[in-house]
Amino acid sequence: STTTKDISREKSAELFEKAKQYFPGGVNSPVRAFKSVYGTPLFIERGDKAHLWDADGNEFIDFCCSWGPLILGHNNDNIREAVTAQLSKGLSFGAPTQLENKLAELILSNNKHIEKIRFVSSGTEAVMSAIRLARGYTKRDKIVKFEGCYHGHSDSLLVKAGSGLVTFGETSSAGVPQAFAAETIVIALNDREALQEVFSTYKDEIAAVIIEGIPANNGLLIQDKDYVQYLRQITKDNGALLIFDEVITGFRLGFNGAATYYDIQPDILTYGKIIGGGMPVGAYGASNEIMAHISPDGGVYQAGTLSGNPVAMAAGIAALSILAQPGFYERLEEVTTAFVNELRQYIQEKGYGVKIFTVGSIFWFAFTDQEHIKRADEIDPASMEKYKVMHRALLNKGIYFGPSGYEVGFISHAHTAEDINTAIKAIKESLDIVYQ
Ligand code: PMP
Repeated sequence: STTTKDISREKSAELFEKAKQYFPGGVNSPVRAFKSVYGTPLFIERGDKAHLWDADGNEFIDFCCSWGPLILGHNNDNIREAVTAQLSKGLSFGAPTQLENKLAELILSNNKHIEKIRFVSSGTEAVMSAIRLARGYTKRDKIVKFEGCYHGHSDSLLVKAGSGLVTFGETSSAGVPQAFAAETIVIALNDREALQEVFSTYKDEIAAVIIEGIPANNGLLIQDKDYVQYLRQITKDNGALLIFDEVITGFRLGFNGAATYYDIQPDILTYGKIIGGGMPVGAYGASNEIMAHISPDGGVYQAGTLSGNPVAMAAGIAALSILAQPGFYERLEEVTTAFVNELRQYIQEKGYGVKIFTVGSIFWFAFTDQEHIKRADEIDPASMEKYKVMHRALLNKGIYFGPSGYEVGFISHAHTAEDINTAIKAIKESLDIVYQ
């Protein structure tokens, strides 16, 4: 069918009107406002396995998965039981618990890139702390980030590229002092020349270069392995640290994340999302030597009342225990590859101008004819109109994708063969609508 009737969003619309009285834009995080897609944001009532229900009673197969953390789907039995068991023992103590040790042990014994970890409560906090650590460790101030990488909303990182190959950044948010932005240099991804110029211009001033393990916040910009290895080398040669922000890729591409995918050893790694099994958790980690600079051992201060929160730790332990089982990631990747391949075949048969980029259990639909997209400026903003049409059609067919064409999708362990087949059919029909 090439037309669809819009689902009812009456109740969601009503709730959104109320929400606008309480919250700026009616939301507590901007992208939820559905500004880049059609219609009112859906207010979600509940989730179970790979399914979501909204306030109007519409049911969806969920490929957003809370933006990544729900690698086991919604309402996972083990996570729910672990959380429930913890609830009666207490929600927060602000004191150490053995749950922190258990989660740390699960992570550190399965991750070859870090020796010590510190838990925080969000990805933003993890990255902000990692930047401070890099500055404290190197006694340098400048950091380099890449256009098209998102690292949370801390001041140093809400910076966009200025004009020219290598320039001081410009703030990308009101309220970020220009003086802060001046310590952040923004360059294009996958560009060796820009890296060389950065290190020749700001020699001995750069504390760290930060990159997303696999950039996945502005499309899925899979980098060439030799480029990332070059990045590793040039940072090392210049005494700058390499921070790998694995908030999305960590525990999504396996316990060793994108660092192992590229076969490199970063200096500091940041994690979030999956670690908490759906509860708010972030983390950063590095070698014993680098982590010794964190308070109370060292002079870099970083703290948190709710850090290592027992309920969140319990959820994380339950989640990662399942992920650590042999074959977990292989199965998830097989499901994703089959899903993507079937859709690619259909797209080819029809001659549609869509590419599906994928790594692990992450996928991204790009409305383009280009074989590869590795830099932010290779994405055509006009192509987002097509995503908007697809998104509306998908919702009408019971498929929930992220509310922006720059966002990637995720497949979870809870997606059954039936879910995947239903989704494939709906996606094909939605593409037909886009190209009709
Ligand atoms: N880094 C990366 C790579 C992210 O994808 C995100 C969030 N999408 C963040 C940092 C910030 O994490 P949070 O939203 O939990 O603060």
